[in-house]
Amino acid sequence: MAHTFVRKSPSPSKPSAQANLHRVRARKKSRPALRLVQDRDESLAQRLQRAEATNKQLREAIDMLPQGVVVLDRDGRYVLWNQQYASIYKKSADLFEIGVRLEDTLRIGVSRGDYPEAAGREEQWIAERISRLYQPKDRHEQWISDGRCILIDERLTTDGGVVGLRVDISELKEREASFRMLFEANPVPMFVARKDDKVILSANSAALRHYGFKAEELSTKTLFDLHHPEDHADLESFYGGNAELFAGQTWRHLKADRTSIDVAIYSSSITQGHTPAILFAAIDITERKLAEAKVAYLAHHDALTGLANRVFLRERLNALLTSRKRSGNGIAVLCIDLDNFKVINDSMGHAAGDSLLQQLAHRIQDTLRKDDIAARLGGDEFAVVLANTNHAVEVSSVAQRIIDVLREPFEIADLSMNVTASVGIALCPSDADTAEALLKNADLALYQAKEDGKGCYRYFEAEMNARVQARRKIESDLHHAHMSGALEIHYQPLVTLNSGEVSGFEALLRWPHPERGYIPPSEFIPIAEECGLIAPITDFVLHRACRDATTWPKKARLAVNMSPQRFRIGNVFQAVSEALKASGLEPERLELEITEALLLENSESVLSILHAIRGLGVRISMDDFGTGYSSLSYLRMFPFDKIKIDGSFVRGIGFGNESQAIIRAIMGLGSSLGMTITAEGIETESEQAFLRAVGCDEGQGFLYSKARPVAEVPRILDALSQAYLAQAPAK
Ligand code: C2E
Ligand code: MG
Ligand code: MG
Repeated sequence: MAHTFVRKSPSPSKPSAQANLHRVRARKKSRPALRLVQDRDESLAQRLQRAEATNKQLREAIDMLPQGVVVLDRDGRYVLWNQQYASIYKKSADLFEIGVRLEDTLRIGVSRGDYPEAAGREEQWIAERISRLYQPKDRHEQWISDGRCILIDERLTTDGGVVGLRVDISELKEREASFRMLFEANPVPMFVARKDDKVILSANSAALRHYGFKAEELSTKTLFDLHHPEDHADLESFYGGNAELFAGQTWRHLKADRTSIDVAIYSSSITQGHTPAILFAAIDITERKLAEAKVAYLAHHDALTGLANRVFLRERLNALLTSRKRSGNGIAVLCIDLDNFKVINDSMGHAAGDSLLQQLAHRIQDTLRKDDIAARLGGDEFAVVLANTNHAVEVSSVAQRIIDVLREPFEIADLSMNVTASVGIALCPSDADTAEALLKNADLALYQAKEDGKGCYRYFEAEMNARVQARRKIESDLHHAHMSGALEIHYQPLVTLNSGEVSGFEALLRWPHPERGYIPPSEFIPIAEECGLIAPITDFVLHRACRDATTWPKKARLAVNMSPQRFRIGNVFQAVSEALKASGLEPERLELEITEALLLENSESVLSILHAIRGLGVRISMDDFGTGYSSLSYLRMFPFDKIKIDGSFVRGIGFGNESQAIIRAIMGLGSSLGMTITAEGIETESEQAFLRAVGCDEGQGFLYSKARPVAEVPRILDALSQAYLAQAPAK
């Protein structure tokens, strides 16, 4: 039968999908039969033509492939290759011909230097290449002379021939090389680990150097082994054991010598060869963390004593107050202040003051339980928080214990020193329940303890507020008085004892208070020192008094008192020179009175400022001589122009030999050191007579005049010269 397949005429109605499917299947089944019939009828020419067409189609198909394709027969002769193959091996393309043996083309290529890998071992290379050809399956890389790298993938076919694929992987190789370079030369320690089991595949030299491992040691470790064992549980729970996505998290790593370092880890997924892997960079931040910890420590602790500072005390007190809400336990806040620290600091110097504060901090700390907190709030102010304390007796006994341990003598610079402390106490919940209010109330109670004679403790009471308000008021009144120019300067004459002439005036501040009348400087100068007004007030006195003095007779000098606190603030030289310049007063007419407290600080800078001021021609006097600690040694430190014997010795003249002996001794000292000696506080003729008799140069006191406003200076000058004239004939 010529045709077993009869095409049915299309049915007028639309065929169903099922029917279509059936028809297609039926057509497919009938096709071989049709082909047989056709083959029998086909001529050889037709068959050749069809084979030719198929061959052409196949060629076109393989030419379209992006890879190079080559087919060799069982003898390794070229059967077929595509354009891509010819273009990959363009240097050898002239050799490709059907029937030519691959081995021959290779040999010619090698001799022309097309395969740099073969250089020096040509025959061996060719032999290896050919033996690979007949592996059932082979994959290898081959470098060719134009610098490209070709991936060769070959398989044996059933007839013993070979089908090969060629892929140009030069770009991939370049990327790999630059990755390796970046990895190897990177200063940051880096590791590559297999993705599935996290086994470390490689580590760069920075990692080996930093961690102290040898490359072979690392090859048996996983990424997890680098971590500190104590962190393994966290690591598991944080990453679900899947350490792939680190983005700067901080972990602890162990070096080869088991020391722990803090590292910030960054990771990303890569492929090494054909293995999925993790690239893992670890930046050592141990130093940074230490520095941060140090900064945090410094921000929370007092640098001198190591106790908590105000900020940290507040934080911890707040935490206690929060937990108190659950526990219901009481809290006590104690503010502690030394009663005589300022005197010690001023007289013994800052180094001694610092050492005292350090010893004191230890003693306070030692009286406390573990949960209690000791803090230094600043200067000589300390605070203690007693956590979980429900009985006032307990609090009182701690307060008393602190007072007692601080009363024990302190050994400083070979001296035994005694201090007393006052303590103010506020309780939570009865007095307040916030950190701020507790500290404020304990501070108010401290004021009360000081008022009540110091060296004792007091509990907060609501009325205490009023007293503090009063102190605040005086501070603000003083501020206002200074700003509004209400402070007055009065002048007290200094008289040359053997001639009776006025040698100068001492400027003494007066504060006429609108409600309280004149407030003495002994009361408001310490307040000015504490509330930061001492510099502007001293500078005001310097300027005003220098200006006033320019109106006096030329031989009358001006003496101005300088508080040690003023020197601590700085710029004293500048203030003095500016006052002189602005007023036009000759520097030789100005005397600055300082007390030995200033020299006791033993600071080079104070001495150099004094020398500089003296260099201007200004004279320097030692005021209140004899009232301090060890006056004599301080006379050696600076060449004073004048010593002012404190008024207390002059008042003692009439009461026995002691004061007289001291005054005589000072006279001896003064004359041998070439310093003028002035006696303060002369009130009687007999005091004057004694001082004249022992050779005292100068006197000051109510006998001559009290300190009076500037307008009275001419009258004082007049009165004193009259008195002198009246006395002269009698002499
Ligand atoms: P000071 O420098 O020793 O001044 C002498 C003090 O003795 C003055 O007291 C003066 O009025 C008083 N005085 C003078 N003669 C007699 C007397 O015969 N008998 C008695 N009982 N006292 C006499 P004032 O003015 O109350 O000053 C006290 C202290 O205040 C001064 O002692 C001085 O240290 C300080 N001061 C006064 N004005 C200033 C100032 O402008 N700056 C500084 N930093 N301190 C000042
Ligand atoms: Mg004075
Ligand atoms: Mg004095």
